[in-house]
Amino acid sequence: MFDILNQDVQYVSGVGPKRKEILKKELQISTYGDLLEYFPYKHVDRSRIYRIDELSPDMPFVQIRGKILSFEEFSVGTRKKRVVAYFSDGRGVVDLVWFSRAQYITRNYSVEKDYIVFGRPTVYGGRYQFAHPEIEKAEDVELSAMGMQPYYVTTEAMKKAGITSRTMEKIMKNLLEKLTQPLPETLPPFITGPLHLISRDDAFRKIHYPKCAEDTQQARLRLKFEELFYVQLNILRYANDHRRKYRGYVFSHVGEHFNTFYHEHLPFPLTGAQKRVIREIRKDMGSGQQMNRLLQGDVGSGKTLVALMSMLIALDNGYQACIMAPTEILAEQHLQTIRELLGDMPVRTELLTGVVKGKRREAVMQGLIDGSVHLLVGTHAVIEENVQFKRLGFAVIDEQHRFGVAQRAKLWSKSNNPPHVLVMTATPIPRTLAMTLYGDLDVSVIDELPPGRKPIQTIHKFDNQLHSLYTGIRKQIQEGRQAYIVFPLIKESEKIDLKNLEEGFETLREALPEMRMSKVHGKMKPAEKDAEMAKFVSGETQILVATTVIEVGVNVPNASVMVIMEAQRFGLSQLHQLRGRVGRGADQSYCILVTPYKLSAETRKRIDIMCETNDGFEIAEADLKLRGPGDLEGTAQSGMAFDLKIADIARDGQLVQLARDEAQKIIDNDPNCEKNEYALLWNRLQALRKTNVNWSAIS
Ligand code: ADP
Ligand code: MG
Repeated sequence: MFDILNQDVQYVSGVGPKRKEILKKELQISTYGDLLEYFPYKHVDRSRIYRIDELSPDMPFVQIRGKILSFEEFSVGTRKKRVVAYFSDGRGVVDLVWFSRAQYITRNYSVEKDYIVFGRPTVYGGRYQFAHPEIEKAEDVELSAMGMQPYYVTTEAMKKAGITSRTMEKIMKNLLEKLTQPLPETLPPFITGPLHLISRDDAFRKIHYPKCAEDTQQARLRLKFEELFYVQLNILRYANDHRRKYRGYVFSHVGEHFNTFYHEHLPFPLTGAQKRVIREIRKDMGSGQQMNRLLQGDVGSGKTLVALMSMLIALDNGYQACIMAPTEILAEQHLQTIRELLGDMPVRTELLTGVVKGKRREAVMQGLIDGSVHLLVGTHAVIEENVQFKRLGFAVIDEQHRFGVAQRAKLWSKSNNPPHVLVMTATPIPRTLAMTLYGDLDVSVIDELPPGRKPIQTIHKFDNQLHSLYTGIRKQIQEGRQAYIVFPLIKESEKIDLKNLEEGFETLREALPEMRMSKVHGKMKPAEKDAEMAKFVSGETQILVATTVIEVGVNVPNASVMVIMEAQRFGLSQLHQLRGRVGRGADQSYCILVTPYKLSAETRKRIDIMCETNDGFEIAEADLKLRGPGDLEGTAQSGMAFDLKIADIARDGQLVQLARDEAQKIIDNDPNCEKNEYALLWNRLQALRKTNVNWSAIS
C-alpha cells in the first residue's frame, strides 16, 4: 500500500535535494514521516504585543512593536563589532544588541520603518536589552495567524544551509498541507476515549501548527503518551514472554540454614525494610517463576545481609548460590563478611576471582561441580569464565551499574533453568526510570537505614581554604578515625589527573607529616592496589588518597571523613556514592566537597543538593532533572539507549505510570497477542520494533 509518510522529504516545498542531504545527515530525516516526528522543543505565544513600559525582567520571550531610532557601533577587540539599535514604541526605549554580523544588521534594517521585535528582555545598564532578537517588518507579520510559534532545534550545519527554526516551521506547514488525508490512528478508541486523547492526525497538526496554548498541550499529551505507551508495551510484552518461556526453580520452603542463621547468628535485629524485602524475595522464589528482582537500597542500608539470607533459602532447597561483586577487593570483603556472619554453620563458602589460581582454583571449581561448595563469592568474571555449578539456583549481583542485560543472560547458561537473580544497587534509580530501564525487573526498595546512624554532615569548601580542612582531618584521626581523600580521574584527562593526585598526595604528606597514608589509583597493578587498600581496611594506614576506584562498595566503618577534591567534576550520583563510604559507624561522619571559587550555576546546584540532603532518592531525582536520563550512570552500559522523541522521563513521571498501567491492562487481557481488538496495537508494536534499533536492544 502506498503510504504518503514514506515519501522522500525532498518533495516538501522548501526542502529540495540539497536540504534533503542536510536533514538526513544532521537529523536522520529522510521521509515525510521522519519530518513529522521532528517535534518542536517549545512553543511561544506570539499573538500578543507588549508595551515597553510593561516589560519586566522575569518575562520570557515577548514581542514589542516600534521603530529603530538610531544605530551605534562599538569595536570589540580588533575585528569584532557590537552593534546596538535604539528601539522605541513611543512609551520607552530598549537596546537591541548584536555581537556579530554588524554590517548585515545596519544594512538590512532601517530607521523609521515599523518592526516587530521578538526576544527575551534583560536589564543592562538600567535599560532593557534584547540580545540577538528576531526582527521582522511589521507589515509582513499577521499577528492573529502567528498564534503559538513552534521552536525547532537546529544545528550549525542546518543554519549554514539557511534552515533556521523559522524555516523548519514553514517546511512543516508545507508538509501538513500536503497531507490531505488524515494520518492513520495508532491508538484504539478504548484507550484514547477514556483518557481524552486527541487523534494522531490532530496531534501532529497541532504540535507543528497550533492556534492556541491549549492546542500545544493537547498535542503534547497525546504524543508523549503514545511514545511512552509503546515503550511500556514492548517491555511488558518481553517480560511476559520471558516469564512464560523460562520456568523458575521453586524454593518451596525455608529451612535449617535460614532459621539457624536467623535465630542464632544474626548480629542485630533486621530493619523493617530488610524484613519486608526478604519476604518479597521469598515469595518470588517460591512462585514457580524465575525471579528477576532489582534491590535498591542506599549505601549502608544493609543489602549484603539481605543477599546472604536469600542465599540461605536457596541452600535450604538444595541449590547453590553465588554473589558477584564488581571488583576483587569487594569480592574479598564479601567473603570475609559472609564467613564471619555464618560462623560455624555448615556452609562451605569459597572465593573465585583472578587471584585464586592453581590448585586452589581447581579445588573450588571441583567443589562447584560436585556440589560441595554451597556459596560462591566472586567477581563478574565468574560468569565470563567456564565455571560450572552442580545446581546453581540463585545469583546475586552487587552494584548492578556495571552489569547489563547481556551479562544477566549469560548467567542462564549456568544451569538448566535460569537461576533466580537479584541485582543490587546503591545508585537509586527514580521509579519512572527504573520502570523504563529495568522494566522487566521487579523492584524492591530498602528505604530505611539501620538504627543509630548519625546523618553525615556535608560541607562545601573552596580550594583556598585547605588549611582548615587539614585541621579537621587531623582532629578526626587523632580521635582514632580514618579518612578518604578522593581525586577525580577520567580517561580524557588521565595524565593531568594522575599528576594532580600525586601532587595532592605530596601536599598532604607535607601538611600532615605524622599521618600514615595509602595511595591508590586505577593505573596501579591490581596486586599493588589491593595491598594498599588492605592496609587501609586493616587500619594500618589512616588516610587513603585515591581516585574513584574506591567508589563502589568498600566497607571501612571506622572511616569518618570523606574529602572529595575537585568535587565540581563529579556527577550527583557519584558524589553520593562516594559520600556513602563514610557514616557506617555510630560516630558523626563528614563529607567535605572541595571546589574552586568560580562555579557554574549547575555545579552550584549540585553542591547545594549534596549539602542539603542525604536521601539517595531525592538526589537521584535531582540528578535526573539536572542531567536527563541519557546521562545517568548505568544507562549506557545497560544497552538501552534512550531515544524518546517527545516524552521526558524526568518530567513526565505520571505519564510513564499511566502508560505502564494501560500497557499492563493489554498484556493481562491478551498475553499471546491474539485478540482482534488489540491487532492495531500489536501491529504497531511490530512496526516500531523494525524501525527503531534501540527498542530491539530492550528485547
Ligand atoms: P550496603 O547496602 O551499602 O551494601 P552493607 O550491607 O555493607 O550496606 O551494610 C552496611 C553496614 O550496616 C554493615 O556494617 C552491616 O553490618 C550493617 N548492618 C546491616 N544491617 C544492619 C541492621 N539491621 N542493623 C544494624 N547494622 C546493620
Ligand atoms: Mg554493598
